[in-house]
Amino acid sequence: MTQIDQITTYNSFEQTLNQATWSMNLFSDDSHDQMFDQQNSIVFPHLYQLPHINEVTSVYNNINTSVKSTQDVSSMSASLDPTDWSAARAEAHKMLDVSLHFLENARDRPAWIPIPTDVRHRLLHENLPEHGKPITEVCKDIVDDVLPYSGGNTHPRFWGWVHGSGTVGGVIAEMMTASMNSNVGLCSHSGVLIERQVIEWMRQLFEFPSETAGGLIVSGTSMAAVICLAVARYNALNKVRQEGLVKLSVQLVAYASTQTHVCIVKALELLGLGTQALRLVPVDDQYRMNIQALKNMIEEDRQQGLIPFCIVGNAGTVSTGAFDNLSDLATVAKENNIWFHVDGAFGSFVALDPTRRHLIHGLSEADSLAFDFHKWLHVPYAAGCVLLRQISTLHATFSSPRNYLVSTRRGFASDNPWFCEMGIELSRPCRALKVWFTIKEHGIVRLGQSIAANCNQANYLANLLSKYDFIRVFTPVSLNIVNFRLEPHELNDADPETIDIFNDELVNDLQEQGIAIPSTSRLNDRLHIRICITNHRSTLADFDLFVNAVIHFCQTRIASGNNRIDT
Ligand SMILES: *Cc1c(COP(=O)(O)O)cnc(C)c1O
Repeated sequence: MTQIDQITTYNSFEQTLNQATWSMNLFSDDSHDQMFDQQNSIVFPHLYQLPHINEVTSVYNNINTSVKSTQDVSSMSASLDPTDWSAARAEAHKMLDVSLHFLENARDRPAWIPIPTDVRHRLLHENLPEHGKPITEVCKDIVDDVLPYSGGNTHPRFWGWVHGSGTVGGVIAEMMTASMNSNVGLCSHSGVLIERQVIEWMRQLFEFPSETAGGLIVSGTSMAAVICLAVARYNALNKVRQEGLVKLSVQLVAYASTQTHVCIVKALELLGLGTQALRLVPVDDQYRMNIQALKNMIEEDRQQGLIPFCIVGNAGTVSTGAFDNLSDLATVAKENNIWFHVDGAFGSFVALDPTRRHLIHGLSEADSLAFDFHKWLHVPYAAGCVLLRQISTLHATFSSPRNYLVSTRRGFASDNPWFCEMGIELSRPCRALKVWFTIKEHGIVRLGQSIAANCNQANYLANLLSKYDFIRVFTPVSLNIVNFRLEPHELNDADPETIDIFNDELVNDLQEQGIAIPSTSRLNDRLHIRICITNHRSTLADFDLFVNAVIHFCQTRIASGNNRIDT
């Protein structure tokens, strides 16, 4: 049996390989030439533009045999492959089992395990390894020191910030991605097509125009925001790439609600526009951008000689999961000839939930959309997406042809356009495979049901909490986020800051005891405990347990005079 036979149980893969090997042999075997010519001239007409194929092979053979080594061969070997493949294979199988066990038993661990001092020391202060050690020992280091302290967002009660919880399919896809080790920035290989396919699926999902739209997979919504706002900046100032902002001496301004994520601020800073280029538009009682205020601000800025260049809409804000009226924003943007960008990091995926899809009405009119696969689709970190109404704008903003990066009509360097011409990265991982895998494994219906379940769980939790007269649930609970604040009667005389601290410490208690991972938010200038449910492992029982723990820690903290709780 060949190596391949041993590894794979997939006959189709074997067949493909055999076929490929067969046609490769054609190239090196003279006797096949005639048959090859006859059989394949019609099927592969382009091969006939390669007159010297056999010449190349014979030259190669000559070079091989004429090289004489006078040096120590061991110092010339570049190989990092295992010397003992079967041992390496056994170790790899073991680690796959460790991974699956880790996910299968996520519920049995604490939601967070603080890193012990000795582990912290080992992780931070290891000497730069001069000589390697067996693969088994490196794996053991992971199992002992890394895996147990890995953050906890695989746990069913991890509800902090906005985190995805990962899947078994994601593990398999990441393993295959690493095996192929493809650079999806350029050339002709399966990873490039997979990325195009995923983007096409997203185009369909968000109903962007089929003739012109396209996109790019990036590390996340923050990176997507940089790329989209760079396109918007170029759209407003076509000379910015050559001349830079200083020479053009214009002041561009962007508009976004006060609830907007900080990634927009970072993008504006990075693009040389400065934080002052962002106008924070007030919100209504549902935390949606006030459209009239937006119109007024645009008008005022124009009169001041500033150039409004971008409106940022939110499809799911971090604090409360609010959706701006995207349809109205699209209209204002069109009327004023301003770029319309949407941050839909997690919220845009309500597109998969028929009962909530109306929330993104108007999204399909955006010029650009940024969102994450690693949040509500649970694709392993990191994968986000840029979707543009006009893919040509992405080329116009980033394409920088160089003679060492020329795509060809055929050969490995074909399959134009290359992704490296559409963004910042030249070398790019195949982030698309894990997205593709997730969507194929579960299908959009099941993924949508999981999202709907999280939103229903948020309502369930809000109901549980509102049974206590000293717990204030922040309203509206519009999506998958519940903010609440304990105001115990015992602290009736305390000032609001003391109650803020009380709630903050309660969050620390819950985290340190490994019960659950909430985060906090500031709403109406008061600290709230924030539960954001983007977790396919959470069940209703998890929320019962959580509320009981909240009450327990609250009482313990009151009884101990609001001190830290140690066990
Ligand atoms: C998470 C998030 C971002 C940032 O996305 P990253 O993938 O972490 O870069 C931006 N906006 C919103 C609303 C988010 O939830």
